[in-house]
Amino acid sequence: MRLLVLGTAAGGGVPQWNCACRGCDAARAEPSWRRRHASIAVEAGEGRWFVVNATPDIGEQIEECAALHPGPGRRDTPVAGVILTDAELDHTLGLPRLREASGVRVVATGTVRAALSRGLRLDRVLAPYTTLSWTTLPEQAPEPLDGGPLEVQGIRVSGKRPRYAADENVDNGDLGDAWVVALRIRDARDGKVVVYAPALAAWPEELDRVLRGADCVFVDGTFWDDEEPRRTGCSSRTSTEMGHLPITGPNGTQARLAALPAARRLYTHLNNTNPLVDPDAEGHRRLAAAGIEVASERAVIEL
Ligand SMILES: [Zn+2]
Ligand SMILES: [Zn+2]
Repeated sequence: MRLLVLGTAAGGGVPQWNCACRGCDAARAEPSWRRRHASIAVEAGEGRWFVVNATPDIGEQIEECAALHPGPGRRDTPVAGVILTDAELDHTLGLPRLREASGVRVVATGTVRAALSRGLRLDRVLAPYTTLSWTTLPEQAPEPLDGGPLEVQGIRVSGKRPRYAADENVDNGDLGDAWVVALRIRDARDGKVVVYAPALAAWPEELDRVLRGADCVFVDGTFWDDEEPRRTGCSSRTSTEMGHLPITGPNGTQARLAALPAARRLYTHLNNTNPLVDPDAEGHRRLAAAGIEVASERAVIEL
């Protein structure tokens, strides 16, 4: 299986347009600090790729990656579709950016589809430009993606809703509760498994079981510690209250991640306040000592 890391930042990216924090200012001066919104691409077949989460950067992410460039025909594209882990804006605002295509395939849970279709009215807004063609992301058992050889499955993580889909803002009844899933991708050719989980409000038992069976895992590294959002002034809530288990501290994910048998264990989805956006931060050495990496922009991962 071949993966491309298209971006590794939480909402806003690094730098964020209206932020003058240390990380954002440094990223303006020094390109090695820059991070695009978190996303990976996975090769579903020879020259056919699915992008996991459609970020506001998706156009630039495709341009920066030769494997995703169009051709040989003028409107041929190797981007076969998009898989969504949730309905957050920073993971879905890229869908309107793909409207130049005659159709866009989107794989998502019924809940995520309902939030985007009914909450954001995305199908209706995009109808004059393109057609979103939806496939339900299976949760009970893995199913072939686009005819195989990859199999995909959503593993339920939490019921954290995007703010635009808070109860009172979404009409027309039940949306279900598959708000946030981790994406499990298995290659039927060699049995290799990747799990991509950029938003962990919790670390449920079933997710842990699935992570234990993976060869490569990407997990939520939004905040270094629980107080970071309050200390840096980006929120009045803690990391946990914002729906992201921190890396360190009593509720931290580092120990659980380090305990997994996966050959590659990576943090992604870094907020611009996270000290890890500094390539020389001490935290990188501390994680490396535990066998954990911070995902690099534009990395190619072969399993
Ligand atoms: Zn995000
Ligand atoms: Zn900032």
